[in-house]
Amino acid sequence: MTSLQRIGAGLATVALGAVFAAAPAAEGLRQQKLKVHISVDMEGVGGVVTGDQLGPTGFEYGRFREFMTREALAAVDAAKRAGATEIIVADSHGNGQNLLIEQFPAEVRVIRSWPRRLGMMAGIDDTVDAAIFIGYHAGTNNSAGVRAHTFSSANLTRVALNGTNVTEGSWNAAIAGHFGVPVVMMSGDDAAIAEVRKAVGNIEAAETKRSLGFHSALTLTPPAAAALIGERVTSAMGRRQSFQPLKVQAPIVVDVSFKNYMPSEILAYLPIFERTDSHSIRFRAKDMVEASAIMSFIGDYRPDITP
Ligand SMILES: [Zn+2]
Repeated sequence: MTSLQRIGAGLATVALGAVFAAAPAAEGLRQQKLKVHISVDMEGVGGVVTGDQLGPTGFEYGRFREFMTREALAAVDAAKRAGATEIIVADSHGNGQNLLIEQFPAEVRVIRSWPRRLGMMAGIDDTVDAAIFIGYHAGTNNSAGVRAHTFSSANLTRVALNGTNVTEGSWNAAIAGHFGVPVVMMSGDDAAIAEVRKAVGNIEAAETKRSLGFHSALTLTPPAAAALIGERVTSAMGRRQSFQPLKVQAPIVVDVSFKNYMPSEILAYLPIFERTDSHSIRFRAKDMVEASAIMSFIGDYRPDITP
């Protein structure tokens, strides 16, 4: 709504009197609640360049989960200062158990481990007002970007929504968009930011590092990355109304290409999957919630899953 339209709406309220009397009160209530969802990955965290930082067997992982936590906390603190009344943080990297949860303020709720519905966006629904991505990385079809991949570097070579290649960032923005939630800010390397902005528009962003290759970057130090994230979240929350939810046209066509040959052969036994070439399948979903569930199934199902 533009300010002129707002003035127009105000005049209509005056003219129609009691019929619209409840509207300002409802608006007041809406302004009091401010719920923020923060999805946190690790490849885009300042300083991360190789697997040595990214998982429990890496020699630097212990320190880097601390840095990842500090970046998430910088976003939490800035969101709180901007008036957030409820904050959900989704630990969305690797085993989903990276964030040092004891460091978060008591009112924050943290989502941990997998599998879970809505994946990296678990916890989002239509009561959320703004989504933030921390530590995000570029997609698998990008020739730039530290550790660029989409969902699984080991298994997938392409994921596309309605014919357009997606990154985890743009896929997750589409899930948020399903619930009417705009992504307002992200952090990661320059390649990751450029890709998500191409999909969702000019959101606020904290560039934690410049990609010099798949395993190299010119990076900010951890304290500088956290400080920049705080600044950009503050700016984003200040102009929250200027961001639009990403809406994907339904029914949604999802194309998935695998590194190996067998997944597409076996999945094509199911009538919901069409095999489009030796390494690829296509499916249709009624919305992003369904698309996300099917993608999770493709990624997580194995007959020997326990317990
Ligand atoms: Zn990750």
